[in-house]
Amino acid sequence: MDVKRDKLVITEDESVKQAYQKYQDLKSAIDHWQQERGSHWLAAMALAPKPPYLPITDLPEDAIIELWQRLNTVAGAPISDGEARELWRQFREGQFTMNPELMSRLHLALGGVAQLAANKAKSQGVPAIGVSYIASDDPTTSYLCPVCGEAATLAILVQPNGQRNLHCNTCSFEWTVKRMGCLFCGNEDAKQLIYLKNEEFPGIEVAVCQVCGNYLKEIDARQRKVKDYTWEDLRTITLNLATERWLSENVKNTAELH
Ligand SMILES: [Zn+2]
Ligand SMILES: [Zn+2]
Repeated sequence: MDVKRDKLVITEDESVKQAYQKYQDLKSAIDHWQQERGSHWLAAMALAPKPPYLPITDLPEDAIIELWQRLNTVAGAPISDGEARELWRQFREGQFTMNPELMSRLHLALGGVAQLAANKAKSQGVPAIGVSYIASDDPTTSYLCPVCGEAATLAILVQPNGQRNLHCNTCSFEWTVKRMGCLFCGNEDAKQLIYLKNEEFPGIEVAVCQVCGNYLKEIDARQRKVKDYTWEDLRTITLNLATERWLSENVKNTAELH
């Protein structure tokens, strides 16, 4: 089959190393918290009978705040419990008033708690197959995480034959989806899918759908060894930025012609 490819233009980002150090420090604080507090909070979590098994809005609030506060302390920027609760309340109402650093630590805390839910789902034998049970009536919802309900942004092509799994950056759950086609709109016309890549990132392509303008980063695990997919997605954020630019220069122009 004729696969369409195009090259992405990348601008160098020097802050990646610094960001990685910060991420690692927070990540190890999350690991410690999960070991120390995980079984306590797991007892308070019940999975729904069907997906999403534990949406992030149903995670125990006290667990999120406890982990978030721990991360704020590790980052050297503690806030009072009262302030944390007030900011969390605003966040849940869709008011994003906190500074970006606090917000990114809140996202990590949500992820840390959601991972407990994903582990519970795995241990209860929840099948990691999105398409067949989550969305038999609507094939375009398979990009939503069956555990936490968040949209996946990263696909992994796994051994031995490149089966496509999605990786949830919130709870780290992985599930299998169909190999070809756009997961966002259901388009299966290969001529409308284009794969963008840059030689600095071997083994990664961005699959862009020219029908709906959505894209999915795909890492070929047969070519690229990755220890932490959530970090890998963050680390390669320049590919997302370059894709957004490519889309604004190509797809939107094309759409305007119609
Ligand atoms: Zn998830
Ligand atoms: Zn599409």
